[in-house]
Amino acid sequence: MRLTLAFAAAAVVLAGCGAMRAVLPGDANTGRAPARTAVEAAPSLAALSYPPLSPNALMEHVRVLSSDEFEGRLAGARGEAMTLDYIERAFSAIGVQPGVVSSSGMVGWRQPVPLVTSRVTNAPTLDIAGADGVRAYTFGAQHVIWTKHMEASVNVADAEMVFVGFGVVAPELNWNDYQGVDMRGRVAVILINDPDFGTGQDRGFGGRAMTYYGRWSYKFEEAARQGAAGAIIIHETEPAAYPWAVVENSNSVAKQDILRPDRGMSRIPIEGWVNNAVGMDLFARAGLDFAALKARAQTPGFRPVPMNLRMSVSLQNELSEAVSYNVIGVLPGRSRAGETILYSAHWDHLGRCPPDPDGDDICNGALDNATGVAGLIELARRFANDGRQERSVAFVAFTAEEQGLLGSEYYAAHPVFPAARTVGAINMDGLNIYGPARNIVVVGYGKNTMQDLLATAAQTQGRVIAQEPFPERGSYYRSDHFNFARIGIPSLYAGGGIDLVNGGEERGRALQNAYVSERYHKPNDEITEDWDITGGAQDLQLFYEVGRVLASSDQWPVWNAGAEFAAAREASMRSAPQ
Ligand SMILES: [Zn+2]
Repeated sequence: MRLTLAFAAAAVVLAGCGAMRAVLPGDANTGRAPARTAVEAAPSLAALSYPPLSPNALMEHVRVLSSDEFEGRLAGARGEAMTLDYIERAFSAIGVQPGVVSSSGMVGWRQPVPLVTSRVTNAPTLDIAGADGVRAYTFGAQHVIWTKHMEASVNVADAEMVFVGFGVVAPELNWNDYQGVDMRGRVAVILINDPDFGTGQDRGFGGRAMTYYGRWSYKFEEAARQGAAGAIIIHETEPAAYPWAVVENSNSVAKQDILRPDRGMSRIPIEGWVNNAVGMDLFARAGLDFAALKARAQTPGFRPVPMNLRMSVSLQNELSEAVSYNVIGVLPGRSRAGETILYSAHWDHLGRCPPDPDGDDICNGALDNATGVAGLIELARRFANDGRQERSVAFVAFTAEEQGLLGSEYYAAHPVFPAARTVGAINMDGLNIYGPARNIVVVGYGKNTMQDLLATAAQTQGRVIAQEPFPERGSYYRSDHFNFARIGIPSLYAGGGIDLVNGGEERGRALQNAYVSERYHKPNDEITEDWDITGGAQDLQLFYEVGRVLASSDQWPVWNAGAEFAAAREASMRSAPQ
């Protein structure tokens, strides 16, 4: 995660939900008493005594899920059992059916997500040799590196470094930053964001809006496809949209990943960032003009540039495995039960965080994302009260979103409802807690026609849809809907709005910025007196309406021209059994 986009949700996402991470189960000093059994401590479902989708019902769910008792709902830790139990009891009380059918035919709520925690234990220096000798850069302050290889140690020795611009291979744009270089055994040095950023031009990379090519995760994925031995991103605050501290904090601690069949061996051995000063130092030592080469990298026809530098690093890695769970419920349809509309929200948060001044170290995650889970349960209740629709409506609470969208990535690789028969998806990550708004912000504005359904529904509330205020931050790629989109499912991620009925845009922006700077991923992301979730309830009505229209029709939302996920939809439709 991640600021000030589609309302607080965007705020959550901008900085990347995984920015600040709490103590992980693998962390040595957890040493806590085992979790109390859910049955003994099961909090009441008082929320269900209020009308569905009502502010009171939402607040009651949030009160329970963000209470200290749930210990910040860290995936794989103490709060997980209580959270899953609460969601499942609510779903069954509402009449939602368990959605997961295991290979043995057992029907249940939980989709197991195998997770592995890895931690670099030797704070390795990054040794870069050049004409001026070897310089060792320190871990944390100057660089952060890690490996997705599930191995105890990884070594790269004397690997040639190559500047590859933005490290983008976009055949549809006839763009290849790796043109003509064999990256095997070499290290790619890469710029963050995409070639359009800051140029005021649109060369197909979305102009001001960041494309997935601009995301750090894309950079490492592409370098792996090129067979590189390592990939190092140069940090620049503006194109990255966050300061070095965020990079250092989220990457110099234990990391979680999905336990992959290949144990991560298809990834590059070394992934990492250097801070801006080190980046500039490397170019100076290589006798290269950074500004001139960056300008060239923003121009079609860029070619990789050898840096006459060689990198060596030896990394020690501590590994531990655990299983967390996505919770999946469904309201089966009637005539078109094989076609599904999906609602999603991640249930996990950070668990325990660095304590704040009064010693509170539980990151309660009230806004992020107890509100989304409350919305998910209440939407299920609203649909259950409606009786059966023509199509099925499913509700997915994802795990490990804070660790890098892992629960939804696992779901996308093992979809419970076939992607080609999934009509559309609506993701909730943070609801509006600042009162009603005159508009609703769509993150990834213009990507697909789910947005048109939202615009029609918004009119019934006298509201309009709006673009996200900071498209350059690439928020569409920072929450779970992104993994739906990657398998082609037209996905909507919208929230609140900046134009508040009480106080307009000015108050809207001020409140969002205050949340990001004071509460985002901190122990005080808690319910406060000034919460007014009627705005969130207003949005849920719209999300309900979009789903109801789809569930009672044979409409198939589509990706708009130019959307990078259209190809995935075509492919999944083509490969679907007819
Ligand atoms: Zn979140």
